[in-house]
Amino acid sequence: MRIAILSRGENLYSTRRMKEAGEARGHVVDIIDTLHCYMDITSSNPTVRYMGAVLPQYDAIIPRIGSSITFYGTAVVRQFEMMGTFSVNESVAISRSRDKLRSLQLLSRKGIGLPRTGFASKPDKIQDLIKNVGGAPLVIKLLEGTQGIGVVLAETNKAAESVIEAFMGLKANILVQEFIKEAGGADIRCFVVGDKVVAAMKRQAAEGEFRSNLHRGGEAQLVRLTKEERATAINAAKAMGLNLCGVDILQSNNGPVVMEVNSSPGLEGIEKATGKDVADLIFQFIEKKAKPHANKTRGKG
Ligand code: ADP
Ligand code: MG
Repeated sequence: MRIAILSRGENLYSTRRMKEAGEARGHVVDIIDTLHCYMDITSSNPTVRYMGAVLPQYDAIIPRIGSSITFYGTAVVRQFEMMGTFSVNESVAISRSRDKLRSLQLLSRKGIGLPRTGFASKPDKIQDLIKNVGGAPLVIKLLEGTQGIGVVLAETNKAAESVIEAFMGLKANILVQEFIKEAGGADIRCFVVGDKVVAAMKRQAAEGEFRSNLHRGGEAQLVRLTKEERATAINAAKAMGLNLCGVDILQSNNGPVVMEVNSSPGLEGIEKATGKDVADLIFQFIEKKAKPHANKTRGKG
């Protein structure tokens, strides 16, 4: 097959590993810089142009759209979908995953376990908002944050009130969420490909830190999932419409709760922690699923 990885950097670990794995399975794998793609959207024959020429018809694309280029990146993916190219993750699903509020609403619609979460845009009923998620300690999150930046733990109701007021004063969109203390600064990253969890790791936050992000000094190790955790991850991926994603779960006293679903999960942490060849499994999935016009939305957005 001829497969393109949409990525901003051919030297990024995940991009490199996927190219290697695809080639090892006999595919032609091109790395295409998403921001250098441009499109003719007026013609009835949609194409994607790159470096002065039309790109060949790929059997599949693997979009690795960073959160800073979601808008343009999803437009490029949509163009490929319009051409009938199979995208491992569809553009709409990527857009959903970039908005924490939208994601949580979609997950709640399907009855998936979530931390109690509130959202408000005006500071008039802050105390009620806080009470509604069970009071302090609680977590306040910027809606479009990533890598743990924009996630704050407020230990008292007073602290929560002032942080919420400050964010609202800056016109930032935020979530107010029950703090899952019993998770002990750890979460579980479930790596989903198709309808399976192909690898899972437990990430433990650094000493004195509640955020387990590897970018914040968290450490990862292999973990065995319970049946319930596995089912939660698979259901979350399905609710989001993502074929390739990282579902982050907290172990709460009420069972697994989903914190977020990442549509461009990194391979380095998970492959090193689990010893699994996740990149190879992604290509096995593509070999099974990539047919022209096999995407559900076909660029309808
Ligand atoms: P980001 O998108 O920036 O990674 P997350 O929502 O994943 O934001 O939060 C970052 C980290 O903070 C998580 O990996 C987790 O360790 C911790 N965390 C987030 N929400 C909660 C919560 N409700 N209860 C306990 N810990 C949390
Ligand atoms: Mg996270």
